[in-house]
Amino acid sequence: MANNLLTIVVPCYNEEEVLPETVKELGKILNDLIGQQKINANSKLLFVNDGSKDKTWQLIKQYSQKSQYITGIKFTRNYGHQNALLAGMSLAVKYSDMIITIDADLQDDVNAIYKMVDKYHEGFDVVYGVRNSRETDTFFKKHTALMYYKLMQKMGVNLVPDSADYRLLSKRATESLLSYKERNLFLRGMVPLIGYKSAKVYYPRKERYAGTSKYPLKKMIHFALDGITSFSIAPIHLILSLGIITTIVSIVLMIYTLVQKVMGHVVSGWSSLMISIWLLGGIQLISISTIGEYVGKVFTEVKHRPRFNIEEENYSIRMESKKK
Ligand code: UDP
Ligand code: MG
Repeated sequence: MANNLLTIVVPCYNEEEVLPETVKELGKILNDLIGQQKINANSKLLFVNDGSKDKTWQLIKQYSQKSQYITGIKFTRNYGHQNALLAGMSLAVKYSDMIITIDADLQDDVNAIYKMVDKYHEGFDVVYGVRNSRETDTFFKKHTALMYYKLMQKMGVNLVPDSADYRLLSKRATESLLSYKERNLFLRGMVPLIGYKSAKVYYPRKERYAGTSKYPLKKMIHFALDGITSFSIAPIHLILSLGIITTIVSIVLMIYTLVQKVMGHVVSGWSSLMISIWLLGGIQLISISTIGEYVGKVFTEVKHRPRFNIEEENYSIRMESKKK
């Protein structure tokens, strides 16, 4: 079987607690699929160590020495989840016919991989993993996520609701995705943009197997804002509308003030002045910060910095030794 090579890309940041179980579960799936001749016997797991401070990389290295299926990349520092996924895909696309990305924490049901591979064989280039329940998420996370998807939709950003970064992409779909050269990565927004035939596979979302979330609230908010400002100029339009409304209101107020003056009423003026100052000050601040956000994006895009630097990798070496 010359093709159907699958690489499963797994970003890892301080995941020493779950890694042994992840390796076991994903290894079993790979084994099954190879046994069923649905994927090439050279298929791999590719762990991307995103600057972990614990023993994650040591573990990956140990496993890769023991098993021919396990490979890894080590970043020089923490570059973030999205960059880790991108690095894994950039490397894997050279050898793979299909790539699956999945979190290391086993929150996403690994059994959905069977269905994803089946969909690939049916001719789909993009297969989204979609959660059909969020029961294990906290009340806060469930509701903020829902609101966020709705907001994004309103702003014209096409997201697949309840799908994150658990998906299968064919070789050509991955190549298309990689041709998007932006630095501010929001992969779940980019994947629908590449087109191709897509399918969805449903699975229940579980609790993290071990360890704690590597996405604290601060990171989550940043990620959510990145998603909006990388994909939509709706906030700018909103500010424009605000500006227009404010101008109309101020014209009405001007007329009102002039009429009052002509009629000889004493104008104390203090309260209206205060309101104007505060209102305009607020609007101006929002406007400036929003424009600043876009200017900041242009700034980082223009710099064309590398999105990651790889310190060590054994992916290609292992592949070559297999051919002999
Ligand atoms: N992750 C990463 N770099 C980071 C943060 C997270 O590679 O800076 C990985 C992490 O190891 C996990 C995945 O991204 O495999 C998702 O993170 P997590 O499960 O902590 O996020 P949550 O599910 O809580 O949103
Ligand atoms: Mg998780």
